[in-house]
Amino acid sequence: MQDRETDGHRARKRFGQNFLSDPNIIRRIIDAIRPQPGETMVEIGPGLGAMTDPLIERLDHLHVVEIDRDLIARLRERYPAERLSIHEGDALKFDFASLCTDPTKPLRIVGNLPYNISTPILFHLAEFAAQVKDMTFMLQKEVVMRMVADPGTEDYGRLSVMLQYRFRMGRMFDVPPGAFRPAPKVMSSIVRLVPLPAEELGASDEDLFGRIVTAAFGQRRKTLRNTLREFLDDAGFAALGLDPGLRGERLSMAEFVTIANYCAARGPRS
Ligand code: SAM
Repeated sequence: MQDRETDGHRARKRFGQNFLSDPNIIRRIIDAIRPQPGETMVEIGPGLGAMTDPLIERLDHLHVVEIDRDLIARLRERYPAERLSIHEGDALKFDFASLCTDPTKPLRIVGNLPYNISTPILFHLAEFAAQVKDMTFMLQKEVVMRMVADPGTEDYGRLSVMLQYRFRMGRMFDVPPGAFRPAPKVMSSIVRLVPLPAEELGASDEDLFGRIVTAAFGQRRKTLRNTLREFLDDAGFAALGLDPGLRGERLSMAEFVTIANYCAARGPRS
């Protein structure tokens, strides 16, 4: 990926700037999002406005979160404040709940995300699932494959389990490098995430669930006996009917929830 000029703007690699330039792909993404007037929508990283223009056309109002000041200056010139609210700053630190002022209008979050921060941004956004209606993102295909991966596959890991706990997810379609300026080196995919209802989130202690999942995938080659030593002894494995010789990648999200709930009910190990 080279720093290159697009529309008089020098694309900044450090901000993961690959601007969408293929009108057919842009149309497909907007059709997939189906923006409706009156919805509360926020776009992460509007950039030069490839998605912002058609979104604003269909919505009364749009929020955007953008880190690049040059791009913000252009956006301010282009759109009146009553149509576009610009939140200048880092999406990784942004409080998305602050935009959800009407509980009857949960947030719709969209964006062609900066690929250099895709995993941390997904974890950050997962914290706002209760205020979100859905999220539609462009990401590297490789990351999307990890998000939707099944247990026992190479792509399956912490990202899969933590996101599958909170969201129903689907890969919608792939986008080739030629749809962007400058072109990234990798294929991209559009993915949709829809938060699961609160009553379907089964972990009684979500923090403990997260720590167990992190431990299980911390050393991929090691068995659960080693990686979950801090949480389960032989009696615990036996009580759960779980083979301690397995690796974390064999366990489904539901099995991780069962382990976490067992540990939470039992209390801290002495
Ligand atoms: N939406 C535009 C498009 O599709 O052409 C631009 C997409 S580009 C892949 C990513 C955008 O996210 C850029 O505008 C970049 O400046 C912005 N960005 C990068 N890091 C960011 C961050 N931490 N917080 C908010 N925006 C960020």
